[in-house]
Amino acid sequence: MSRTIKTDVAIMGSGLAGLSAAYRLLKTTDLKVAIFEKRPYQGGVVSNCPMAFMSLPDTPEHMASALRVMGEFTNYAGDLGLARTIFHYSSLLPDIVLGELGIEVEDMIVNDPATFGQKRAYGSGFPNGMDVGDYYFIKGRGQGHAAALVCLGYRRIIESLGGQFYFNTPIQKIIREGDRVTGAVACDKTGERVDIRCKTLLVASGGISDNPQMMKEELGLTRTDDDCSGDGDVIFIHFKNSKETGDGQRAVWEIGGAKGGISVSGHSVVPGPGIVGNIAWMPRNLLRIVQEQPYLWVDANGKRFMNEEMSDQHMAVGAGLYNNPGHCGYIIWDEDTTKRWAKRGVEDDYVYFIFRGKKIEFIREQIDMVKAQGNRHVYHGDTIHDLCEYMGIDEKGLRETLADYNSYCENGVDLEFGKNPRFLRPVREESGQVYAMRIHLGGYDTIGGITVNRYCQVLDTKKKVIPGLYSAGGMIAGSLYGNPPVNASSSFTASCSSGLAAADYMAKEIKGE
Ligand SMILES: Cc1cc2nc3c(=O)[nH]c(=O)nc-3n(C[C@H](O)[C@H](O)[C@H](O)COP(=O)(O)OP(=O)(O)OC[C@H]3O[C@@H](n4cnc5c(N)ncnc54)[C@H](O)[C@@H]3O)c2cc1C
Repeated sequence: MSRTIKTDVAIMGSGLAGLSAAYRLLKTTDLKVAIFEKRPYQGGVVSNCPMAFMSLPDTPEHMASALRVMGEFTNYAGDLGLARTIFHYSSLLPDIVLGELGIEVEDMIVNDPATFGQKRAYGSGFPNGMDVGDYYFIKGRGQGHAAALVCLGYRRIIESLGGQFYFNTPIQKIIREGDRVTGAVACDKTGERVDIRCKTLLVASGGISDNPQMMKEELGLTRTDDDCSGDGDVIFIHFKNSKETGDGQRAVWEIGGAKGGISVSGHSVVPGPGIVGNIAWMPRNLLRIVQEQPYLWVDANGKRFMNEEMSDQHMAVGAGLYNNPGHCGYIIWDEDTTKRWAKRGVEDDYVYFIFRGKKIEFIREQIDMVKAQGNRHVYHGDTIHDLCEYMGIDEKGLRETLADYNSYCENGVDLEFGKNPRFLRPVREESGQVYAMRIHLGGYDTIGGITVNRYCQVLDTKKKVIPGLYSAGGMIAGSLYGNPPVNASSSFTASCSSGLAAADYMAKEIKGE
C-alpha cells in the first residue's frame, strides 16, 4: 500500500528551522507547503525548554562587527557568507517572535556593535563569539515552556495559512532523479508508504543524539541516561523523545551530499538523581550552581585540564571534558570554600543567568541527600585518599596537583593556566572536609552533519549544489562554524534564521529567479 502527496515544498522536521521555513513560505508566497514530522507533534529538540535568543539589527555597522567577531571566533573556518545570511534574517526575529507569535520577553538587552565579542554571550554561559546582537530572554525560561510556545504559535499560523502537517510520518529516503531532488519517501504511523513529490525539499531534522550507532561512529561517544548510571560518557539535556535520530544526515549522505562537521552542542552536566529533575535541564538544588564555579577542576588522573575560569563558557567546558579520559571531569573544593559560599555566596564568582543561585548553603546535606537517592557522582569526606578512592581519581596525581595549585593560590599567580587570581581557592584537607563532584560531557543536542552554501542549498562532495535540496537548523552548523562546529551565534537564531532564508531561496528556485 502506498499513497502519493504532491506539494511545492516538502519540509522534513518541525523544529524551529522547519517551522520558520513553512511560516515564511506561507506568509510570502502562494506555494503549497507540506511538513513531515517523525513525532506526533511539532517542536523538535526544544518542545519544552528555556530560551534566550539573539537578533542582529539590520545596519551595516552591526553586520560588519558581527562578521568580524564570528570570523575570529571560528578561526575563519566557517562560511561567513552563510553567517551573513543568518545574521541578516535574524533581524526579522523580534517582529516574528514577539509580534506575530505574541511571545512575551521578560528581558531584552541592546548591545552596541562596537563592543560585540567583548563579553560572554547572554552575560554568562556562552562564548564571546555569540555576543553578536541584541539579547531577548523569553518569559518562561528556566521553567520549561518558553520555546514550546514559539513552536505552538508557529503551528497555529502555518495551519491557518493552509500549510499541511503530516505527524508520525518520518521521511526515510530522499529521491534524486538525474541531478535533481524530486521528492522523498516517508512512512506513516499505519506503516503505509508515502511517496512525496515536490519541487524543493528542506531537510531540517536536527541532530543525531538519539542514534547510538551514529553517535559512536561520528563522535566516538556513548549516550548515557540522566543518571549516568550506565557506562555511557555523554548526557543530553533535551527531552528523551526528541527523535534526534540523524535521519536527515543519513538520507542526504546517501544521495551524494557532503558530510559536514558534527559535534556535541556543548554543555557540562552534573549527572544523577537528586541534582536534576526529570529533565536534565531542570535543577533541583544548589549543586547545579556549584558546577558553574571556577575553582579546581581535574581529570581522572588528578590533573587540571583547562583554565577553570572558563566554567562560565559551557562550550569550552564541553570541549575540555570531551578530551578527558571518560569524557568527564571533577570539581574539587574544601570546607573553607563551603563556608565562604554559605557566608558570601557566589556573587564574587559566577552567577549563571538561568540558575541564579547566589548563596549556597547546606551543601553537605545536599550531597548526603542526593547520595541517598543513589547518586554516585558526589562526595564529601575527611581525606583526599577517601575522595580519590570513592570518585576513581588517581591519588598521586591529585596530590601533586594540589601541591602546585595551593602554592599558586598562596602566591596569587596560576603558573599552569593563568587563571584570574580571584578564582584561586586552595583545597586543603586541614580545612576539615573535602568535596568532589563528577561532571560529564553534556550537550543540548548534536549539531552539524550537512554541508550547505550561503543560500542553504545542500552541497555534494565536490561542493556542487544538489538542485532542489536545502537544509536548515542545527544540522548545518558545520558550514556555519567550521569543523568541529562550535556554537557561535545563538542556536535559536541560527535555526530560525536559516529556516527563513531557506524559504526565500526555495521560493526563488521554484519561480526560476
Ligand atoms: C534544553 C535546551 C535548551 C536550549 N536553549 C537554547 C537557548 O536558550 N537559546 C538558543 O539559542 N538555543 C537553545 N537551544 C538549542 C536550540 O533549541 C536548537 O539548536 C534548535 O532548537 C534546533 O532546531 P532544529 O529545527 O534545527 O532541530 P530540532 O529542534 O531537532 O527539530 C528537528 C525535528 O525533526 C524531526 N525529525 C527527525 N527525524 C525526522 C524524519 N525522519 N522525518 C521527519 N521529521 C524528523 C524531529 O522529530 C524534530 O521535531 C536549547 C536546546 C535545548 C535542548
